Amino acid sequence: MFSEGKVEVIAGPCAVETREQVLRTAEALSSLGIKILRGGAYKPRTSPYTFQGLEEEGLKILSEAGKKFNLLTVTEVIDTEFLPLILKYVDIIQIGARNMDNYALLKKVGKETAKDGRWVLLKRGFAATIKEWLLAAEYITSAGNQNVVLCERGVRTFETSTRFTLDLNAIPIVKKLSPHPVIVDPSHGTGHADIVIPMSRAAIAAGADGIMVEVHPEPRKALCDGAQSLDLKSLSQLKEEIGKVARALGKEVV
Ligand code: PEP
Ligand code: MN
Repeated sequence: MFSEGKVEVIAGPCAVETREQVLRTAEALSSLGIKILRGGAYKPRTSPYTFQGLEEEGLKILSEAGKKFNLLTVTEVIDTEFLPLILKYVDIIQIGARNMDNYALLKKVGKETAKDGRWVLLKRGFAATIKEWLLAAEYITSAGNQNVVLCERGVRTFETSTRFTLDLNAIPIVKKLSPHPVIVDPSHGTGHADIVIPMSRAAIAAGADGIMVEVHPEPRKALCDGAQSLDLKSLSQLKEEIGKVARALGKEVV
């Protein structure tokens, strides 16, 4: 995973909601040749009154879908308390923007994943400088796991027409300053499904090693982040369009 000349695609719903939702999504990924399925089972929601995730039930669904369609799985850990269970079910551990500076969590994830070297996907905090983000990654690497992929997901600015401002500057800077692959999340970075594809093309053009996008079989019914989720047909279009950009750079989308 994450090698020179390759562009990885990670796709899946913001949150695991039902078995059917995840299996339908996984089937679509598989038919497009996408290898990594995402889905949140523990959601760090801004409001405590919104859907918080299916927890262990969600991990089981994600794991079942991964096995059935031969996909790697990624989910977010929001607290050290849930880490043992997540490690049992899921391949790649995500640390979200809201936890980028949770140093106890970074250390614990670093220590536990060092045992088998599994990948940790570290998102940039939405008010974190690139330097702070790279230092957060060093909490993981200095605990013994070098397999960290950095994910730019937008930062907070004065702009209100998008949910966040996707900082594509970060891609070449991170590539210059760190040994880690860098991917881009244009779903959270924009908040709007209709600009996810152009920003995905831009991310690949700027040198990203991959993208992570939210998809849902029925975005309008999503319990979480529906407005920024692509439907399954748009996912196929996205794959095709980033393929063109990748090929122009002598890379291929996996
Ligand atoms: C997510 O990937 O679902 C998520 C919560 O992202 P972020 O941490 O970037 O807000
Ligand atoms: Mn989301």
